[in-house]
Amino acid sequence: MSHRADARCLEGNTHERSIMTEKRTRVVVIGGGYAGTLAANHLRLRDDVDITLINPRPQFVERIRLHQLVADSGSATVDYATLLGEGIRLVVDAAERIDTASRTVALASGDTVAYDYLIYAVGSTGAVPADVPGAAEFAYPIAELEYAQRLRTALDELHADAPVTVVGAGLTGTETAAELAEQGRNVTLVCGGRLLPSLSQQGRRSAAKWLRKRGVKILEADVVTEVRQHAVVFADGAVRPSALTVWTAGFGVPDLAARSGLRTDAVGRLLTDETLTSVDDPRIVAAGDSASPSGVPLRMSCQSASQLGPQAANTVLSRIAGTEPAAMQYGFAGSNVSLGRRAAVIQFARQDDTAVRFYIPGRLGAAIKEAVCKGTVWGIRRESRKPGSSFWFKGGPRPEPNVTSTTSGPSTVTSRMRTVS
Ligand SMILES: Cc1cc2nc3c(=O)[nH]c(=O)nc-3n(C[C@H](O)[C@H](O)[C@H](O)COP(=O)(O)OP(=O)(O)OC[C@H]3O[C@@H](n4cnc5c(N)ncnc54)[C@H](O)[C@@H]3O)c2cc1C
Repeated sequence: MSHRADARCLEGNTHERSIMTEKRTRVVVIGGGYAGTLAANHLRLRDDVDITLINPRPQFVERIRLHQLVADSGSATVDYATLLGEGIRLVVDAAERIDTASRTVALASGDTVAYDYLIYAVGSTGAVPADVPGAAEFAYPIAELEYAQRLRTALDELHADAPVTVVGAGLTGTETAAELAEQGRNVTLVCGGRLLPSLSQQGRRSAAKWLRKRGVKILEADVVTEVRQHAVVFADGAVRPSALTVWTAGFGVPDLAARSGLRTDAVGRLLTDETLTSVDDPRIVAAGDSASPSGVPLRMSCQSASQLGPQAANTVLSRIAGTEPAAMQYGFAGSNVSLGRRAAVIQFARQDDTAVRFYIPGRLGAAIKEAVCKGTVWGIRRESRKPGSSFWFKGGPRPEPNVTSTTSGPSTVTSRMRTVS
C-alpha cells in the first residue's frame, strides 16, 4: 500500500553528484504548514541542496487543532525547532510576489530570496463570503491562528449561556460546534443543506446523536443569508439571536500565485500537472491545499497535504538529478471528526474519498482521532530525522487529467481547463 521514494533515482548518478558538489541548488519552500515542512525535510535526501522555508509565523500551526484552541481544550502551535531538519533555514516573513524571470521571492519585509526551485505550499484560509451581508463584519472565521485567537477572546467575554451560531457543518464547523457544546455553550449548528456531507449516513447519524445529546440545535436545511451583530437571518426571513457567529462554511486560498502571474484554478490554487509542477514554470512545484493538480484538486485536508508535500520535494529532487519526475499518487483513508475530547466519528472511505458504511464512534474514535493528530506532527519530526521516511497511498483512479506534463518547458493546458487570470 505505501510507497517509498526511490532515493537512488532522486540522487542521480555519481557523475552528476560530483558536478553538483561544485554548485549547490537553492530550493525555497513557501509556507510552513503540513505540506511545506514535510517537503523541506524531504529535500534533505540530497546534501547539496540549500533549503529555505518561508513562513509568516515563527511557529508551526496545527490547523487541525484550531477548534481546540478556540474552546481552550488544547493548543495548536509547535516550535519549528522541533520539526525542521538540520540545515533548513527558516525565514519568518510573508512572500509577497514570486518573480519567475529573476527567480526571486519578494518578501513583505522588503527582502528578496533567490531560488533555483520553488515549492509553493501556502495552504488555505478561512473565507467569509462577501455576498452575505454582515458576514465579513460580524462573523468570526476560525481557519487561521489569528482568527482562532480572536474568536477565543470573544468567547471569553461572552456569558456562558449566550447563543452561539456555527455556520457550516462540514468537518471544521461540526468539530467547532462540538467542542463549544462540550464546554456547556448554547450552540446552534447551521448546515446549509446537510450535516457532515462527507460522512456515511450511519456516521452522520452517530455525530448528530452526540450533538443533540449535548444540546446542539442542528438546523440542517437552513441557510444563513445575513449576519447581524447579535443575530443571524435565514433564507426564509427568520431571525434568530446569535451573540456570536462563527463562520466555517468555505475555504479560500492565498492569492500569491495569481498575484505572481502564475495560472491558477478558479479558486486560486496553483495549476499544476500530475507531477505537481506549475503549468507555467518547471521550476515551481506545488503541494497541499494551494495546489490544483491537472485542475482536479484533492479535498483540502491535512491528509492530502501530508501526502503531496514529500512528493513535491521528490519532483524537485528528480529535476535536480535530471530524471523524470513521477506522477503524484494519493489515496484517502477516510475522515475523522472529533466530537469534543471524549468522542469522535472515524469514517472509513474508499481511496477516492467516498464514505463506506463502516465507522468507529465514541471513545475509541476519540483515541484514534487524537493518535492521528499526534501522528501528523510525529511524521514531520520523523521526516526531519530520517528524510525519505514519509509514505503515501498508491491511490485509486484519478479523474482524467486536463494538463499534460513536460520536463523541458511549460506544460500545455487543454481547452477543458478553467483558469483565472
Ligand atoms: C479547525 C480545523 C480543523 C481541521 N481538521 C482537519 C482534520 O481533522 N483532518 C484533515 O485532514 N484536515 C483538517 N483540516 C484542514 C487542514 O488543516 C488543512 O487542509 C491543512 O492545514 C492544509 O495543509 P497545507 O500544508 O496545505 O497548508 P497550511 O497548513 O495551511 O499551511 C500553509 C502555511 O503557509 C503559510 N503561508 C500562507 N501564505 C504565505 C505567504 N504569502 N508567504 C509565506 N507563507 C505563507 C501559512 O501561514 C501556513 O503556515 C482542518 C482545518 C481547520 C481550520
